[in-house]
Amino acid sequence: MEPSKATYEQLVSQNEELKIQLEEANDTIDAIRTGQIDALIVNDGDGHQLYTLKTADQTYRVFIEKMNEGAVTINQQGLILYANTSFAGLVGLPLEKAIGIKFHSFIADDARELFDRVIAGAWQDDCKEEIQLVGQNGKLTPCLLSCNTIDLDEGVALSLILTDLSILKETENQLKIRNQQLAAAHQATEKLNNELEDTVRARTKELFVSREHFKYLANNIPQMTWTNTPKGEFDYYNQQWYDYTGLSLDETKNMGWKLALHPDDLNRTVEKFRSSLKTGEIFEVENRYKRGSDGAYRWHLNRAVPLRNENNEIVFWVGTATDIEERKKEMERKDEFIGIASHELKTPLTSLKGYLQLISAYKKDELPPVVKQYVEKANNSLNKLQRLINDLLDVSKIQAGKLEYGFARVDIAELVKNCSENARLIHPDTNFIIHDGSNYIVIANAERLEQVLMNFINNAVKYSPQNKDVIIETSLNGNNVRVAVTDFGIGLSAVQKERIFERFYRVEDKKYMTSGLGMGLYICAEIISYHNGTIGVESEAGKGSTFYFELPLVED
Ligand code: ADP
Repeated sequence: MEPSKATYEQLVSQNEELKIQLEEANDTIDAIRTGQIDALIVNDGDGHQLYTLKTADQTYRVFIEKMNEGAVTINQQGLILYANTSFAGLVGLPLEKAIGIKFHSFIADDARELFDRVIAGAWQDDCKEEIQLVGQNGKLTPCLLSCNTIDLDEGVALSLILTDLSILKETENQLKIRNQQLAAAHQATEKLNNELEDTVRARTKELFVSREHFKYLANNIPQMTWTNTPKGEFDYYNQQWYDYTGLSLDETKNMGWKLALHPDDLNRTVEKFRSSLKTGEIFEVENRYKRGSDGAYRWHLNRAVPLRNENNEIVFWVGTATDIEERKKEMERKDEFIGIASHELKTPLTSLKGYLQLISAYKKDELPPVVKQYVEKANNSLNKLQRLINDLLDVSKIQAGKLEYGFARVDIAELVKNCSENARLIHPDTNFIIHDGSNYIVIANAERLEQVLMNFINNAVKYSPQNKDVIIETSLNGNNVRVAVTDFGIGLSAVQKERIFERFYRVEDKKYMTSGLGMGLYICAEIISYHNGTIGVESEAGKGSTFYFELPLVED
């Protein structure tokens, strides 16, 4: 028990001594820092040494104590004679512990060689170098080390100023990262830019090829062609336009194209064109353009169709003018021929009919049955021929604008009744279903309306080889009376529907080819138009058709 007691007492006294030393050390350090003393004794292993602080100016020491940089003074053995609070903070030690130890111990192992070299040189010349300080907890702090020699009474010492470069380094690092990011972004932008340039180049080339393609095509078709903006300004004419009209680009521009139009066709053309620009519907009109070389006006069929983008907005219009002068003349010759031929045929037909009547009336009872039968057959054929000739005459009258007739009050119910009775006689195999309304009165020509309705009925029977039902229906549509004939036959395609009322138009389907000249519906359309009514068809191929006309009702 004795030794341990002695040891304890020893320890207590040692501790007391150490406490006193520590207090003394603290006092000394404070005194140095505040400039109260100018010298101190350091135990550097070789015994105690006295160091006096030559520049023991109080003001400077306070200044050094307060500065942000670490300030250290080392002797030739590298021992720290003095360090300020900032330095202690840098290396993570209490100030009193930083003094008296080797500065070397705060340098990272792999940087010691460089540090030694710098310090060795610093005794000769002031110098600066970047070093890494290692703190107590192993934390590395990048610092700029500035070395200056100072003369102390006991010999030369080195003053080291350490500027913490952590923030600078961090900023530099951030800057580097930002620069790298910037470089990457720049590279990406450049790549994108290059790709864009490539695309633009390719598109420009495509556009050029497509424009040249269009020009080549446009200049090598027989028609005159043009394009115009959605507002209707013309921005391109092909070579044929200039060749035909003899107009220059300047003369054609800004509505100058009107110069080439026949004055009688001008209003009609401009009106139709304006209406198409407004509605977006295909522009189609027949008019005459003046040929520059001889001043002759030639008929042209003008058509312009709008080109739309993915939003269905019109981007531009493409128009063509096709020379139909020869076709027109041919039609005129045909009409003339039809007119003359039907007229010429009418006279012998009338006398033939007369003779047949005479034959059937002559000694009526004595006529052998077979002759009676022949006379009846001849009469049927003559009636067919007469209908055909009448149609031909109607067509030529329409063409000459001479199909005229008088109007009177017509009861639609009576008209339907007459026609259905007639139809049942002619087509005994067909099942006619009548849906008639009340007594609708219209102002019309009864004979001509019967002609229209009979045409609808005859066609319904003719173009329904399988289904024998035909519905005749009268109804009201607003202020109009509507008469419709529905069949369940071969029907019409959308394209056929569009052209069905044209002169001489017939559906060219060999499967269902029947006799006819394609005049009936054309005449019907003309008759209904003469009555200020509307004619139309609803149909689906293979399902059947409904042909109808509508006329304004008379208000009593
Ligand atoms: P056609 O004398 O040739 O019958 P139309 O002018 O009366 O002359 O008719 C023109 C064409 O319209 C016909 O050739 C036929 O192809 C078609 N057509 C007319 N009516 C019908 C219908 N009810 N169903 C189907 N096609 C029809």
